[in-house]
Amino acid sequence: MRLSDVLSKPPALQFMQVEGFIGTKKLAVGMQRKIQVGKIALNYFCRKCDDVRTFCSGEEIYCIGVNEHLISIDSVLKCHCGASVQIWFLVDCDGDISGPAPEIRILKRSEKLSPDALIDKERYGKLSDLLEKAQRAHHDRLGAGAMVYLRKIFEQITVETAKASGIPCTYNNGRKKPFKSLLQEVDRQCAIIPREFSENGYRLFGELSDIVHGEYNEDLALSKYESLHRLIVGVLDNVKNNNELMTAVGLLGWNNGVLNNDQT
Ligand SMILES: [Zn+2]
Repeated sequence: MRLSDVLSKPPALQFMQVEGFIGTKKLAVGMQRKIQVGKIALNYFCRKCDDVRTFCSGEEIYCIGVNEHLISIDSVLKCHCGASVQIWFLVDCDGDISGPAPEIRILKRSEKLSPDALIDKERYGKLSDLLEKAQRAHHDRLGAGAMVYLRKIFEQITVETAKASGIPCTYNNGRKKPFKSLLQEVDRQCAIIPREFSENGYRLFGELSDIVHGEYNEDLALSKYESLHRLIVGVLDNVKNNNELMTAVGLLGWNNGVLNNDQT
């Protein structure tokens, strides 16, 4: 497997072995190197093409040394029509990154979408619209607004998953279950949040609610946005696959020292 294959997948917790890509000469801190690792390819909804398209990087990618086991990679992915997405990765290596067969994972991935490129609409169905609204609100520096959309997505994905798996959203007396109870029930049955983070699932919701209900100020809401957005997207991915929220969890300071590859 090559570095580009890993970069073309969603960030995952487990390390994957790839062909050496830095070369034999160590990449010093802050130094840049051009590497050839194949094209990075990710799907986005292209507004110009009006469909989901694969956006690709060029053959050459630039990376910057952060320390012995971390590198930063910047790239621009393009649709064949010219629409583009700026993307940045922080790649973590289990050991020395300049080795001949390093084991790596994406510690962080961040995208700057352009007006012509949206997140893959098909991926999250109707929730993609809400995600896009959250992104737009964030882009316009409307922190609380962005949080409202994220919270809505979290509620909806939980309710949808409950419905899909036959978990009633109300009690026998018709009263609506509090979100926390429903989330726990859904998570127990469907593991929409990785098992070891189930308790943090409600913490995420609480944090979103706190922002929505004004306990956080606008700047804090904006500064929390990226991490919370990543987490929500992670929950969505988890409903489809089975995923890895560790990066975002770590960024929010929720992992409490469990950033450990042995956790499953
Ligand atoms: Zn296009």
